[in-house]
Amino acid sequence: MKQVNIKCPYCGSRALLRPASVVYGPKATDPAAPYYVCARYPICDSYVAAHRDTRLPMGTLANRPLRRKRIDAHRAFDRLWKSGLMAKKEAYLWLQAKLDLPEREAHIGKFSTFRCEEVIQLCDDCFPAVNKASYEGRPQMCRIYPFFACPGERGKAFEVFQCMDDHAAHFTGGKVLVKDWLYENFSKERRAIMTAETAVLPELGRLLQGVNFNEDKAGLFQILHNRYYNYDLDEPFLPQYMSNMAALEKFLRARTGDG
Ligand SMILES: [Zn+2]
Repeated sequence: MKQVNIKCPYCGSRALLRPASVVYGPKATDPAAPYYVCARYPICDSYVAAHRDTRLPMGTLANRPLRRKRIDAHRAFDRLWKSGLMAKKEAYLWLQAKLDLPEREAHIGKFSTFRCEEVIQLCDDCFPAVNKASYEGRPQMCRIYPFFACPGERGKAFEVFQCMDDHAAHFTGGKVLVKDWLYENFSKERRAIMTAETAVLPELGRLLQGVNFNEDKAGLFQILHNRYYNYDLDEPFLPQYMSNMAALEKFLRARTGDG
């Protein structure tokens, strides 16, 4: 194979163009895929994938911690377009602009640990509500998980997108009407919970804007407690939810001096 001359950034040895089976062994999904691998591998555990046609490396050689970071950064970034928040092309332009990098430099495969963390932070900042709600709120809250909603055009309350990623629990194809999906997948009680949630959220949301979470850790804890933790899972959920939300509303009014 024709190869380019690159060096391992960790030990300075030459990187050799080798098949994926060298690093992945029998587990390699594509054993012949080209990789640049440090000549001292496996003592120096550093490599990077290459383009099959041009034999050019897809980034810089990375050791295990950096490879992990790049995977995490990719995951955070892919969510931007897989969720429907941006088109894929837009997402790449957005990343270039945010990092102030030219197109040829704006590839996660070229990024350092520091850069990857910056990417993860930037991408996560696009999803503040979703991050908190869907992870803290399991198992009862936010069953709308396979969908992503964002404010719609003027005159429409929301646009709802379907997550089309490869997560086993998500949909993988076809058009699904949200209403039908809800009826097929939610019990009557869970639909009642969502209806109740829709009713209380606008006011809670308004009150929450008056709380400074950076300074008010006790307040933050109270919110998490009422919304996510204060449930006896052996008892019916809806009455507990209603009383928790009433308590939370009262707490927020007192905290923000509203009403
Ligand atoms: Zn090396």
